[in-house]
Amino acid sequence: MMADFALEVKNLCAGYEGVPVLHGISFEVKEGEIVAIVGANGAGKTTTLRTIAGLLRPTDGFVKFYGEDVTGLPAHIMVRKGLTYVPEGRRVFGKLSVKENLELGAFKEESKEVVEQRLEWVYSLFPILKERLTQKAETMSGGEQQMLAIARGLMSAPKVILLDELSLGLQPSLVEKVLQTVVEIRRHGVTVLMVEQRVLEALEIADRGYVIQSGKVVLSGMSKDLLDSDEIKRAYLGM
Ligand code: ATP
Repeated sequence: MMADFALEVKNLCAGYEGVPVLHGISFEVKEGEIVAIVGANGAGKTTTLRTIAGLLRPTDGFVKFYGEDVTGLPAHIMVRKGLTYVPEGRRVFGKLSVKENLELGAFKEESKEVVEQRLEWVYSLFPILKERLTQKAETMSGGEQQMLAIARGLMSAPKVILLDELSLGLQPSLVEKVLQTVVEIRRHGVTVLMVEQRVLEALEIADRGYVIQSGKVVLSGMSKDLLDSDEIKRAYLGM
């Protein structure tokens, strides 16, 4: 039987050293969707992604991936199942070349041929990377490093990619460019769950959105409805 959702998260609770941060988060992502989780600094967006990705153990609730209960499975297993997390802050390996960074993203793949195919795939998505293959990652611009971080995540050929705050620290002119790559990724069949502090920009590319505040979902809906809602306009768009 086909699963109803690529990702189903119910009543997720998690925290750090006994201090709760997520107080029962629930949401779903259908295959082929772009879903954005938006909210202010410290709302629990990163914690949500890290818990789903297997980097943090939930204290309650469950995560289903294509119908399978994957709650609490470690990150390397989640990657193997087809869920990859791209952390915030463009954590590329600065001293390594672009190509070496990309190859690390496929370290679980033994077939050289498959790695080559994936490299060609990410070059088609990010042609700029192909021009920079031998360049050290740290010498690239912030926007290029962010693209490299996404591309490295794609090298594991995920079904679902979790993107953490892609716009963080990017100059405004680059934010849109990087977010447009998310639309491209989906066009290539990868389902996207992203978190963003930039509510407007995120909802402009997402199909649906969830607003979280203090570790809880306070509002959800189709992106266009959220963008039209007075609550969003007032609280996040300064209108
Ligand atoms: P940001 O945009 O700042 O990343 P966020 O919505 O992603 O915001 P989280 O990073 O999930 O929020 O943080 C939620 C809360 O958990 C914050 O109060 C934060 O201080 C706390 N927190 C985050 N990481 C840790 C950690 N490693 N140890 C302890 N507390 C943490």
